[in-house]
Amino acid sequence: MARTKFVCGNWKMHKTVAESLALVKELVAGLSEAAGKVQVAVAPPFTALHPVAQALRGSALEVSGQDVFWEAQGAFTGEVSATMLAEAGCRHGIVGHSERRQLFGETDEGVRKKAAALLAAGLSPIVCVGETLAEREAGRTLEVVERQVRKGLAGFGAEQLGRITVAYEPVWAIGTGKTATTAQAQEVHAAIRGILRQLGGAAADAMRIQYGGSVKPDNARELMSQPDVDGALVGGASLKAKDFLAIVKGALR
Ligand code: PEP
Repeated sequence: MARTKFVCGNWKMHKTVAESLALVKELVAGLSEAAGKVQVAVAPPFTALHPVAQALRGSALEVSGQDVFWEAQGAFTGEVSATMLAEAGCRHGIVGHSERRQLFGETDEGVRKKAAALLAAGLSPIVCVGETLAEREAGRTLEVVERQVRKGLAGFGAEQLGRITVAYEPVWAIGTGKTATTAQAQEVHAAIRGILRQLGGAAADAMRIQYGGSVKPDNARELMSQPDVDGALVGGASLKAKDFLAIVKGALR
């Protein structure tokens, strides 16, 4: 089935408020060709979410959080709830990014709770999965990704699954300049689609599976031409308007 491609820029810990506003201004100005044909979002750091969302009101560019905490409120110093993200103007929230898993001890169960909190607040989770280099070299890619998908999405019904995007991001390709080949990406994306069908039946056909890991203007089109690659989660190349816009253009059929 035809799925609208979804490209999201994950800015990580980059950009002050002023820099964020300057970048989205350039993006909006350059998005006209893709508007309505590709879904596009940016995930600025927490401090810039509200001003960026305000600046983007009425535009086609959407806003995502980079993380969220699953509790609604309370004594959780440093954390931000899904309701807070929604109020700040977010439509999406990224959970389970490999940097959160590796540097901050995020678990599959934590990913599931965060995704559930986002859904409850009316936001769309972008659930990241992906194997390390050691796991790929040990031939464990599909086993690791299957575990992350099944545990991260455990208990969600078809309606909830339909609001979730899965991002396949091989850890060895993130920020390294190494990209999965189109065949490697398609193999894992097709396997993820198979698991999603077991979990959600027909809802799986409408779910977007993004690829992430050193997506650049020169490889984006080829990666997103694969039947089960429904967009991209872009790190480094989303920090420059020219590169991110070129990647979005690569999603146009
Ligand atoms: C990411 O961190 O989600 C990512 C894909 O980063 P990069 O594009 O820089 O590899």
